[in-house]
Amino acid sequence: SAMVERFLADEAATMRLGEDIAMALRPGDVVALRGDLGAGKSTLARALIRALADDVGLEVPSPTFTLVQSYDTRVPVHHFDLYRLSSADELDELGFPEVLADGAALIEWPERAEDRLPDTAVTIELVHRDDGRLAQITGVGPALERIARSLAM
Ligand code: ADP
Ligand code: MG
Repeated sequence: SAMVERFLADEAATMRLGEDIAMALRPGDVVALRGDLGAGKSTLARALIRALADDVGLEVPSPTFTLVQSYDTRVPVHHFDLYRLSSADELDELGFPEVLADGAALIEWPERAEDRLPDTAVTIELVHRDDGRLAQITGVGPALERIARSLAM
């Protein structure tokens, strides 16, 4: 287990963190994005997906109503926003475990998934700090170690 912190002074820094994580991301990785409304979860997810797509202008709609939006990128990625999930049971209807097995996953509002997230998920918590954000990256297992190593470079 490890914890990596990065101070994100502005929106561009949040985008850079997303791009850096995209470089380290592998199929099967699950990244949980925690933080209040406006913390920067969608900003980070959008930059990460655009980096995987190698397309800075790629349309990345919010999956608030669809719950999930999937991208056929270098590493296939599923972008979840579980804010409107009524119960963790609803995830079974999305074929949640099957979807997680096929590509990588970015999950906003992972709290709603309760115990359905794998133990090996990497959590990025974004908290307000001064005029920017502090990203606290935690987890257990090879994905966290790979991402932490890559962020240290
Ligand atoms: P969330 O998905 O967590 O609700 P959004 O990404 O939709 O948050 O919105 C985050 C807001 O905060 C955007 O207006 C964005 O420009 C801004 N923002 C993102 N990262 C930072 C940062 N590091 N410092 C200051 N503002 C930021
Ligand atoms: Mg959001």
